[in-house]
Amino acid sequence: MAQYQAKVIIIGSGPAGYTAAIYAARAGLNPLLVAGFQKGGQLTITTDVENFPGFPEPIAGPELMERMLSQALNLGVRVVDDHITEVDFKKRPFNLVSEQNSYCADSVIIATGASARWLGLENETKFRGFGVSGCATCDGFFYRNHPVAVVGGGNTAAEEALYLANIASSVTLIHRRDELRADKILQDRLFAHPKINIEWDSVVVDVLGSDTPKSMTGAVIKNLKTDKIKELKVDGLFIAIGHKPNTEIFKSWIELDNEGYIKTNPGSTQTSVEGVFAAGDVKDSRYRQAVTAAGSGCQAFLDAERFLREAK
Ligand code: FAD
Ligand code: NAP
Repeated sequence: MAQYQAKVIIIGSGPAGYTAAIYAARAGLNPLLVAGFQKGGQLTITTDVENFPGFPEPIAGPELMERMLSQALNLGVRVVDDHITEVDFKKRPFNLVSEQNSYCADSVIIATGASARWLGLENETKFRGFGVSGCATCDGFFYRNHPVAVVGGGNTAAEEALYLANIASSVTLIHRRDELRADKILQDRLFAHPKINIEWDSVVVDVLGSDTPKSMTGAVIKNLKTDKIKELKVDGLFIAIGHKPNTEIFKSWIELDNEGYIKTNPGSTQTSVEGVFAAGDVKDSRYRQAVTAAGSGCQAFLDAERFLREAK
């Protein structure tokens, strides 16, 4: 087991974590960043990013995150490929542990982001990886010329439906309300696409499939206004109903809101524990964008730097 020490440890390697680390390195704090299981964060599972400033042409999500990693490494950030499993914020210095290592830090910036939500159906779990997926860009390839469905009405669902429409024979978007929350530009593209059909006011109530070979064959949907049940013959079902904050390991140490997001002081990234700061999607149930996550990573660094200066 290796033991690491740092003035500031950043947990997470999404836009928030890398930005905090880049600033901390430039300030001479010799930061250490623990990347987590999803190195690069959520943008590693998307295709083109068109709204991160500085890239006049679309940039692939994984490439954008590789560039952030390179920038951090070039500035001397210590990046450890590890996943924190427990924290102890009782007193400073704070202790963090993983399966392999232990870490000790004068201040911590939590940038653990968010993970995909699932519907919670038994057969959804059973057929996950056998038709049910949480990532069109990862699994869409397997459904060339097959009918698929996407669940959700936000930007992710809209983008996944549009992405899949280039591969699949047809895409049914299943949304529980009669209007989408996706950006207007994406809605316009969805409505105009000849291969995309929308099932409004509908929810998935079951996933159908066979055991040998294990494979899903359809989804049962219910219209919430008419109570009508119908079966969709689809080979793939992409769940895109949002994300939940990755805060499980912090819940007995710092204050969370009702949805599990980390609470921070108004206008600050300071959590309920002095010296522990939070940045990005893990504390932001509202904006959840790469650029806002990066911005709050910068704020968390500024708060941590002031804290360390004043504590000294
Ligand atoms: P995340 O990107 O979620 O990264 C969290 C990091 O924490 C990961 O590196 C993970 O490994 C790490 N981690 C978690 N738990 C631990 C632990 N216990 N120990 C160590 N590390 C841990 N936004 C845009 O602005 N434009 C877009 O085009 C866009 N497209 C998107 C497409 C998709 C499919 C999705 C899902 C999101 C998209 N977003 C987009 C939103 C954007 O990806 C997020 O707002 C942004 O990534 C949040 O950054 P973050 O740094 O807070 O966290
Ligand atoms: P989201 O905006 O929270 O949307 C989730 C969608 O799933 C909503 O339409 C919601 O329905 C639906 N939903 C939630 N729980 C459900 C359930 N149990 N059953 C059925 N439907 C359910 O999540 P997101 O689309 O993943 O986006 C997350 C953030 O990333 C957003 O801030 C988004 O703007 C950002 N993002 C941006 C881009 C981009 O800028 N290009 C791309 C992707 C994501 P209701 O509408 O009824 O609540």
